[in-house]
Amino acid sequence: MDSSNLTIAIVGGGYGGLAAAKALSVAGANVTVYEQASEIKEVGAGIGLRPSSMDQFRRWGAFDAVAGVSNPSESFEILTADAHPIAEETWPEADVFGVTTHLIHRGDFIDALYSVLPEGMVKLGHRLEKITDNGANATLEFANGETATADLVIGADGIKSVVREQLFSDQQPVFAGEHAYRVVIDDPECLEMVADGKLRMYLGHGTKVYLLPLLSRGQVSFDITALDADSTWAPQVDLDYIVNTVKGFDERIVNITKRLDVSAVNMRAVYDIDPVEVWHSDSVVLLGDAAHAMCHHQGQGANSAILDAGAIADALTEAASVPEALAAYTAKRKPVTDELQRISRQGWNEDEVNDVFPGQKPATMAAAQG
Ligand SMILES: Cc1cc2nc3c(=O)[nH]c(=O)nc-3n(C[C@H](O)[C@H](O)[C@H](O)COP(=O)(O)OP(=O)(O)OC[C@H]3O[C@@H](n4cnc5c(N)ncnc54)[C@H](O)[C@@H]3O)c2cc1C
Repeated sequence: MDSSNLTIAIVGGGYGGLAAAKALSVAGANVTVYEQASEIKEVGAGIGLRPSSMDQFRRWGAFDAVAGVSNPSESFEILTADAHPIAEETWPEADVFGVTTHLIHRGDFIDALYSVLPEGMVKLGHRLEKITDNGANATLEFANGETATADLVIGADGIKSVVREQLFSDQQPVFAGEHAYRVVIDDPECLEMVADGKLRMYLGHGTKVYLLPLLSRGQVSFDITALDADSTWAPQVDLDYIVNTVKGFDERIVNITKRLDVSAVNMRAVYDIDPVEVWHSDSVVLLGDAAHAMCHHQGQGANSAILDAGAIADALTEAASVPEALAAYTAKRKPVTDELQRISRQGWNEDEVNDVFPGQKPATMAAAQG
């Protein structure tokens, strides 16, 4: 169908919402993004953008904006807590898409996406309070008193999605029994550990430590994910508490942790959602974490949101009507993300590492179970 006749409202200006705005505006649609925050910003941490996501940026003419603030990475390594190698892999699908994974600071990524959108497309300070599905279109009511009606509303409003809760499912997020402590540092000892550009994950004693190099910034995203029974959404713990989560780890990791500026550490309890059975009506659809929030153990949440954005734009171009496009988008993306939600709930115990890297289960893995 011809997307230029469509008015599309996207609720949420995170990775999913901004990527969808780019993909749909390239396809010619009349797009507005409504974001609750008064400024576009992200937490201080890094993520990996997979080859399939980099390929989408290339299709949308956004590759240079993203590549210019990220670092290509050839492979990643999994190690025990005391730094014995368990497995090393090149990033999957780099050969398929002819581009490798790029590691990026979350703030740089959101800025890059924002920079490739037409001026005025994102309306800040618009917190959705109510959505009404009118059948052929839907109406949004915001906390600031404004309203908007669009032929298609995309709910890209994250794990606590108002769109999902009011129209599709009242299931609440599920606590994973873990905390994530994330901070970007320029600690020389940490930079030395990832000077080759590989992402490294150290596993053991119920804790995972991710070192994600941001070499063009001279920094490393230092992320600790540790078992914890406290389900408070944004927990507050002190440095001794964090240091205790890396007890028994390689002494460099212990020392780096002891040197952290705790006031800069982003602390979050880890949550996902159960698969949502219905993603769309005839004029409203879910995308990104709103549709399929998943634990971060596979690093697939942001990538899935970007692939959703490409899939929805393609479906609208190929289908004869909006309802047909939304059904095609869901049929394409839901089986993939249902499976990613399932495997992302797994930690990285011995069997799970073996599932992902067949034949690479070494004796040292036992040490990682600690
Ligand atoms: C600890 C941790 C580590 C992670 N690591 C990785 C990783 O390495 N790789 C990876 O791919 N993914 C990772 N993720 C997942 C990734 O961050 C998410 O999957 C991704 O941010 C989802 O993007 P989104 O746009 O769907 O949702 P969000 O990023 O949550 O964006 C939703 C947007 O909607 C806005 N919004 C919410 N409610 C309203 C409302 N009512 N009205 C208007 N606006 C609203 C919010 O302000 C926000 O801007 C991680 C997540 C966590 C918690």
